[in-house]
Amino acid sequence: MLSIPSDIWEDMIAHARLLDPHECCGILAGRDTTITEHYRITNILAKMSEAELARFDQAKLSDLKQLSPEERADIAFQMDALEMSQAQKDIRQKGITLTAFYHSHTFSPARPSVTDVKIAMEFESYREKLNIPEPVHVIISLQDKANPVIRGYRIRNSTATEVPVERR
Ligand SMILES: [Zn+2]
Repeated sequence: MLSIPSDIWEDMIAHARLLDPHECCGILAGRDTTITEHYRITNILAKMSEAELARFDQAKLSDLKQLSPEERADIAFQMDALEMSQAQKDIRQKGITLTAFYHSHTFSPARPSVTDVKIAMEFESYREKLNIPEPVHVIISLQDKANPVIRGYRIRNSTATEVPVERR
């Protein structure tokens, strides 16, 4: 169970709407399962021009070729590394814990995609070195623009299990 205050809940939805059709991303932190802080992180893919994206993809082309078309269509967010480390510093100074990563799905349901699971598993391989506890992956879906849906998941052994998310 993750408990998210109303103002943070609304701000996550506002962030998702602001970047739509691109995906937004960010970090939630707090004590135990009670979220108290919210960090919007720049999605560097949303900021890149088409030309820059083409170059970025060039570098990852060998990886991308191994993905199915469905997976390729879903590579839609990458958190800005500097902003992430600034958020982690603030989290440490406040004596709270990084609890969740969030991102939006602008056209699909609030469920981890095949690529989300792959990225989460890659992250698991070096997470302990970064001294970050196992995160909940929160997804904001704008599939129905008038009725955003927010759900949370733990991703272990390439399997996503829902973690209930409560607005308080
Ligand atoms: Zn996703």
